[in-house]
Amino acid sequence: MSQDRSSLVSFLPKASPATWLGMMGGGQLGRMFVHAAQAMGFKVAVLEPSADCPAGHAADHLLVAPYTDAAALAELGEQCVAVTTEFENVPAQSLAALAVQAFVAPAAHCVSIAQDRLAEKRFFTDCAAQSGVMPAPHQAILSAADIDTVPASLLPGIVKTVRMGYDGKGQIRVHSHDDVRAAFATMQGVPCVLEKMLPLAHEVSVLAARGANGQAVVYPIAENVHRDGILFSTTVPGPNVTSACAASAQAAALEIIARLDYVGVLCIEFFVLHDGALVVNEMAPRPHNSGHYTIDACVTSQFAQQVRAMARLPLGDARQHSPAVMLNILGDLWYDGDTLREPAWDQVLALPGANLHLYGKDTPRRGRKMGHVTFVAATIEEAQKNFEAACKVLGIAL
Ligand code: ATP
Ligand code: MG
Repeated sequence: MSQDRSSLVSFLPKASPATWLGMMGGGQLGRMFVHAAQAMGFKVAVLEPSADCPAGHAADHLLVAPYTDAAALAELGEQCVAVTTEFENVPAQSLAALAVQAFVAPAAHCVSIAQDRLAEKRFFTDCAAQSGVMPAPHQAILSAADIDTVPASLLPGIVKTVRMGYDGKGQIRVHSHDDVRAAFATMQGVPCVLEKMLPLAHEVSVLAARGANGQAVVYPIAENVHRDGILFSTTVPGPNVTSACAASAQAAALEIIARLDYVGVLCIEFFVLHDGALVVNEMAPRPHNSGHYTIDACVTSQFAQQVRAMARLPLGDARQHSPAVMLNILGDLWYDGDTLREPAWDQVLALPGANLHLYGKDTPRRGRKMGHVTFVAATIEEAQKNFEAACKVLGIAL
């Protein structure tokens, strides 16, 4: 597959500023990509089913159509030299169709592995021969009969749908075989995986990027805190990250991105267990919320890196120049009981090193990602102090 792809790629025109880049998906990741691409002089076309979308407001051209619409895909492929995606659930066959006309990065086969938790875990297990970093112990639950063979060692556990999970959705915690049966029924019998519940000490992620020429870069490891299944904050350098943990996670990320023959930005999430063991959880074939700190704290942001990779330009320096703490801004902050009010951005922006990023969404809803603030400073303690002050101003409990 990669051979066919290489020969095709050499016939496709290269992107250079003033040519068009295409984006499948209109969310905030697409919007920040549009900003990075336009800063380098590119024009961007976005394909997205909804006319009112964060990336669409920033794009040079918005194609409103389903992701599988053949005419819209042909138009995007015709207009753009290269096409990428901002979410992992873009139909892999749409990427494969676009690849006939344009350079598509990441390729459909990479995205389809990331869309399927079982394929992803099989792939991580193959990589572990080299990296030593395994996924959580697990078993496929494809039919009721699979539940009878679940070993006691996998319980308590988490039943996750194989496809379409995000922000902790499509997951049910289970303690017994009967719980697994009930969870599988709640999931309406769609393919699931049962994962052993692991004793997490903390969660980390690593962003890596790879160019069409095989050049790869890796960003510093990020420490992530989740609340209610949604990313709450990212701290880099993380207070709990050891240099040994960072080195293994970065080496595993480089092994994974090379073995996939991946082109673009890839984020890999890991668990660190109480005994210090590193476990690989999942990957996102795109920039990631835990990489937003790179906009303000690294030489090349994850979005500028995505532009460079798909345009087949040299990758940029992934070095971090400032310690950083990122706070996600959810729609909850607009609610004072049942009354809607605007968060006190003036007080947040009065804090040293604060950079506010809002995604242009008109309707705040609880749990909806509306933006983020990154605090940069000369030391991580200083950034953390300003992050905590912002939480206080915004009424976020710490
Ligand atoms: P997202 O898309 O937001 O990253 P997701 O819905 O794809 O999330 P996961 O990342 O697999 O799902 O799980 C969400 C969270 O649930 C993890 O960040 C972690 O806190 C917890 N979790 C998941 N799997 C396990 C496990 N095997 N043991 C303990 N905790 C887990
Ligand atoms: Mg996750």
